[in-house]
Amino acid sequence: MRPPYPKLLEIAQRSASANSQDVLQTLVLAAAELTGSQFASILLPDSEGGTLSFAASLPAHSKALEGVAVPVESSIAGWVLRHGQAMFVHNAQEEARIYREIEQQLGMFTLNLAAAPLMFDGKTLGVLETLNKLDGNYQHEDLQILEVLAAYAAVHIHNQRLNTENAHLHQQFEKLERMKRDFIAIASHELRTPLGLVLGHATFLREIVEDPDAQQQVQAIIRSSLRLKEIVEVLSKMDNYQTGMALIRNRAIALDELANEIIQSYAEQTRRKNLSVAFDVQSQPVELMVEGDPDKIAVAVNNVFQNAVTFTDENGTIQVTLKKIPGYVRLTVQDSGIGIPENDLERIFERFYQVESHMTRRHGGMGLGLSVAKAMIEMHGGRIWAESTPGEGSTFTIMLPALAA
Ligand code: ADP
Repeated sequence: MRPPYPKLLEIAQRSASANSQDVLQTLVLAAAELTGSQFASILLPDSEGGTLSFAASLPAHSKALEGVAVPVESSIAGWVLRHGQAMFVHNAQEEARIYREIEQQLGMFTLNLAAAPLMFDGKTLGVLETLNKLDGNYQHEDLQILEVLAAYAAVHIHNQRLNTENAHLHQQFEKLERMKRDFIAIASHELRTPLGLVLGHATFLREIVEDPDAQQQVQAIIRSSLRLKEIVEVLSKMDNYQTGMALIRNRAIALDELANEIIQSYAEQTRRKNLSVAFDVQSQPVELMVEGDPDKIAVAVNNVFQNAVTFTDENGTIQVTLKKIPGYVRLTVQDSGIGIPENDLERIFERFYQVESHMTRRHGGMGLGLSVAKAMIEMHGGRIWAESTPGEGSTFTIMLPALAA
């Protein structure tokens, strides 16, 4: 027998390559060559499990074996499949388990044979079989070689299945993403018109209603409609960013001024919760310039700051820090709030994701603020992320490319 190692090495390398189309074919050829057999094949069970068919065989036979089904109950391959054990047969003419019909397809008699199961994770995925060793009978070394090759085949088949499953899941994911996007686009668009009408009529009523109770009711309608309008705006903005339809108007922005304005706009809320807010500017104003669309960057900073206010209990602290670092301006918003569990730290930037479920949460919101913030920051070539110790607080960091001097 020829030493198998160079061939096995070649096979190992081939199976590890990306183009794995002909891996099974290579394994079959190697099985025939290394064991000196007239014929070799890989058989895989069909979906119902009662038969096996040929997934690969020597090129001279593959045409003849197309569509041929080997019964699991009355064949050696079937026995190996069911028992998960390698075996050889020396005197095949006396062996009852041989499925003779194959001999006609192949145009040869079976003199002897060896077969090994394709094992993966304790399951038998198929069978590697060789027929008719040309010089003498199959030995244990032959079985060992077949087992090594069968293990490669099993890993390959398992990988192929994973790939197929993966591609399928990916397709489903894309489809769901599309549906979600379409839903948002349609819903926000369709809500706009009736909402405008509700607001219009309510505003009209406010002018003519004199009864104070009715006035209050109308005010409530207007407040809620305005809130709803805000939500619809966020949704449709989100849609625009994701479909790349949003325009960026580039200007030089003084990030310290922008942050300061946002902090000031929450003065009333932070006073009510008795939050102490510190704004620490650690670099010169000229160093804190970035380039971009001020409205969009303001939305991102606003959403992060708003969360800090929302998720920090009374008497807590919020610290906003601005600092120039090489190539970037870094803004951090650190709060002493409820914090975010580690598993959620990345997911909070996904659309509609909220740490507490809708049913149990004490805060409003739709789980869109951070995904909008992320979209805005990333469209400016920046990054945003969160760190947190649950129960102690969270730190959100935004890095934006610094304006070139
Ligand atoms: P929402 O508008 O619902 O707050 P966001 O996208 O802004 O949506 O935030 C997603 C979720 O991330 C929030 O619902 C909350 O669970 C969590 N989160 C965001 N910021 C903070 C923070 N500073 N402290 C604690 N949890 C936060």
